[in-house]
Amino acid sequence: MVMLVGGPAIRAEGTRNALRTLAHQVALALGSAELAAEVHRRASEARFATLVQNSSDLITVIGPDLRILYQSPSIERVLGYTDAEVTGRPFEELLHPDDQGRFVRRLTDGAAAGGRGEVIECLLAHRDGGRRHFEILYTDLLADPVVGGIVLNGRDVSERKAFEEQLAHQAFHDPVTHLANRALFNERVRHAVARTLREGVGMAVLFVDLDDFKTVNDSLGHAAGDRVLLAVAQRISAAVRSADTAARFGGDEFAILVEDVQDAQAAVDCAERVLAALGEPLRLEHNDLTIRASLGISVAEPGAVTDADELIRNADAAMYIAKADGKGGYRVFEPAMHERVLRRLELRADLGMALERGELELYYQPLVRLGDGVVCGIEALLRWRHPQRGMVAPDQFIPFAEETGLIVPIGRWVLREGCRQARLLQERMRLPVALPVGINLSVKQLLDPQIIADVSEALADARLDPAALTLEITESVMMTDTETAVARLTELRELGLRLAMDDFGTGYSSLSYISRFPLDVLKMDRSLLAAGAAPVTSGLASAVVGIGETFGLEVVAEGIEYPEQCSTLRELGFHTGQGYLFARPMPPAELVDYLERNGAGVRAMAAG
Ligand code: C2E
Ligand code: CA
Ligand code: CA
Repeated sequence: MVMLVGGPAIRAEGTRNALRTLAHQVALALGSAELAAEVHRRASEARFATLVQNSSDLITVIGPDLRILYQSPSIERVLGYTDAEVTGRPFEELLHPDDQGRFVRRLTDGAAAGGRGEVIECLLAHRDGGRRHFEILYTDLLADPVVGGIVLNGRDVSERKAFEEQLAHQAFHDPVTHLANRALFNERVRHAVARTLREGVGMAVLFVDLDDFKTVNDSLGHAAGDRVLLAVAQRISAAVRSADTAARFGGDEFAILVEDVQDAQAAVDCAERVLAALGEPLRLEHNDLTIRASLGISVAEPGAVTDADELIRNADAAMYIAKADGKGGYRVFEPAMHERVLRRLELRADLGMALERGELELYYQPLVRLGDGVVCGIEALLRWRHPQRGMVAPDQFIPFAEETGLIVPIGRWVLREGCRQARLLQERMRLPVALPVGINLSVKQLLDPQIIADVSEALADARLDPAALTLEITESVMMTDTETAVARLTELRELGLRLAMDDFGTGYSSLSYISRFPLDVLKMDRSLLAAGAAPVTSGLASAVVGIGETFGLEVVAEGIEYPEQCSTLRELGFHTGQGYLFARPMPPAELVDYLERNGAGVRAMAAG
């Protein structure tokens, strides 16, 4: 204990005495200062020890050879090693292998520069094999006789890092599919373009858009839609190399950056892999879905690099054209496509007015009994007489009509007009029974709650026998809530009409649905006929006949262009055919002429 002698006593003595006393006091004071310093030092050491014990910071002193001279015990809590275990070992051994070289370099560079108070970020290895992010502040006290080492003060910033990474991930990834988002994708493409310029390696951008995804979303709900998107993302990721970047652009649009592409063929191979992966049936609760997608490719060859935005735009345009040319396929971008894209965007805008302006018409194509060539039905096919562009085929605008929902009012008009014409034809040709008319029904219409009322009103207003109406639906009903679809179709069929599965054989899905759907007719897609004049070579055609027999369905072959096809199909067992060989789709007035020329057959059929 130190006691300082107080003032009043000093003042009471003489000068000499006072001086002596002062000297004594100085000595005393000096002694007490040392003592005080000592006390202070001990206290702060104890405090230091406690701090060091309980801190999550790591305090390490290393020698000039980077071996650990002192290690605070907190290491055990932070990295799982005891201080005794690591003392004397090279500090490097605590570093994650990826970081060893870099850290040592920073340390020696820093030391050479006389660095003090510099912060180094690094990964330290936990005994359990994990790694922790650290920020290490190092102070070179090698010259300090007391310390004689480099003091490393390490702070575990793993949580902060994880949070930062999470924020970065959120900023650059899509929450539904966890794929890169548009921003990150654009950035990657920019890098790849720079690399193409620098290193002369080609690259490609693939743009993927799901076909009929809106139908899934509308009929099964958003949660199911999200699950489909996630499944699609996983399939795309699995189909591309790990070095490639898959991204979701929003909605049902995806993009893929393929690097190190030698030529367009390599990009096409990748596109085919992706489409095949997406085509695998997808089980979603009690629905079997077939996901199809359209894909556009734009390739940047080393010699002719464009910029990143242009590459993405071009892939998008090529996708648009792929979709326009029939869903489920791919196209490689060509400059002429921009023109077509513009044209289609204009058409899309014009379609809104087409119905009320009376620009829509129905053409009719006969169906022929293959056994005797008798006309046994007609199919109504929609045409748009565009004021500037002339006649537009349905493939050019039905996709838009489906996307925008316009297909419902347009389809309602088709139903009314088709039934009306069928009845007019019956009256005009004095047929005892109306010639059956096939009307195409989009899935969107089927899911519209009004559909039963629409169909029965169209029949009633036309005074057409329901038995003379066949509604044609496509396999895309598979893309929807099958239970609702089956219920709707059953209700429709109870009106007394017939149901046909159109474009049969183009889906990849199981046949199980054929038994679940209330059907009367299978219309085999024309792609199943061999091209050219050759007889049917496709074994699929006879399989379709087999399926028809199994389920008791009439089988119709579409797209017959050559007599040889006709005879082969007849031999295979097809009852009915349709195609340019017999007649092209035609306006009602021509149809009357056609039927009058082939009238005997019609009447014979109608009577028989
Ligand atoms: P689809 O129902 O399969 O109709 C048959 C298509 O094949 C018609 O094309 C027809 O002109 C064409 N075709 C007929 N015979 C031959 C042939 O021998 N060779 C070739 N190469 N083609 C032939 P179209 O009229 O362009 O119709 C295309 C598709 O548009 C239709 O295919 C149908 O899916 C859809 N569609 C047409 N009208 C409507 C409609 O009113 N509503 C709905 N939802 N879709 C329609
Ligand atoms: Ca059809
Ligand atoms: Ca068809």
